[in-house]
Amino acid sequence: MRILALTGGVGGAKLALGLASIRSADEVAFLVNTGDDFEHYGLHVSPDVDTLLYTLAGLNNQELGWGREGESWNCLKTLDTLGGESWFQLGDRDLALHLVRTKLLKESMTLTEVIGHVATQLGIEHKIFPMSNEPISTRVNTVHGELEFQRYFVEQKCEPVVTGFRFDGIEKAQMVPDLTILSFDCVIICPSNPFVSVDPILAVPGMRDYLHSLHCPVVAVSPIIDGKAIKGPAAKMLSELNLPVTSYQIAKHYQGLVNGIIIDKLDSTNQADIKNLGLRVAVEQTIMRTLEDRKVLAQSAIDFAMSL
Ligand code: GDP
Repeated sequence: MRILALTGGVGGAKLALGLASIRSADEVAFLVNTGDDFEHYGLHVSPDVDTLLYTLAGLNNQELGWGREGESWNCLKTLDTLGGESWFQLGDRDLALHLVRTKLLKESMTLTEVIGHVATQLGIEHKIFPMSNEPISTRVNTVHGELEFQRYFVEQKCEPVVTGFRFDGIEKAQMVPDLTILSFDCVIICPSNPFVSVDPILAVPGMRDYLHSLHCPVVAVSPIIDGKAIKGPAAKMLSELNLPVTSYQIAKHYQGLVNGIIIDKLDSTNQADIKNLGLRVAVEQTIMRTLEDRKVLAQSAIDFAMSL
């Protein structure tokens, strides 16, 4: 059986690790948001891809919840002393990955090839596809104007009130050719931010048609649990957009694409409302604290998809 998992960064990578731990490289592949990518000091930084790479390689920083373990910050501190820009936290070890990626891209490798190269170096066997090889930049519309995603997320700490999103470059982007020739038996949308992690993937021209053409079950895991996000701005964005902060809203967001949604057992969302959207609901423990939690939820998501 072949599974395609759509993921953003930290939340999505948790379930991705569960999937990669219970299914071989032949059985599961990952499709990752690159709308967060940006250029910093001339380097191509790809936060969601890197979170997935570090997580699957067991190199992620558990304490920070992002970045690489055993990180040091000498470059960042030195940048500060030189009056450089230090709002984006570039760790020394992390920097090495951005240097390698930028060099390989300059040498005309595609982003897919670069990710494949780095994954191999890190001992990752599972295939990781960026949503596109072309640059796409998520812009957050706020009451103070439009912000590049990392400026909103890191520099402004998600404080500006959000009014919408735009994916700059999306019209010219194409799906990764290596992905379009593959077929899958189920698609899992990891519990990533729907607006800024999953929507950019779905906005790539041809992506929704491709997913429909697989004629396979598609399930999502809700990142919202009882009116809150575990981390990050998903709940804040929903409420600023005057939408209910519920798993029902997540289900509605993916209506027409997914056949079912997994909500948390602590979530009091009215399941009947979700069923009225024509979607099936599964209730599981979706809060992933341990590796075992990740594996159990991964298996539940596969079982749920295959039951549809
Ligand atoms: P980012 O790109 O690093 O912000 O990460 P993602 O978009 O992949 O994930 C962010 C979302 O993951 C947030 O909305 C969180 O609520 C959700 N999240 C994080 N950890 C968990 C978890 O253990 N379970 C569930 N269900 N959602 C989670």
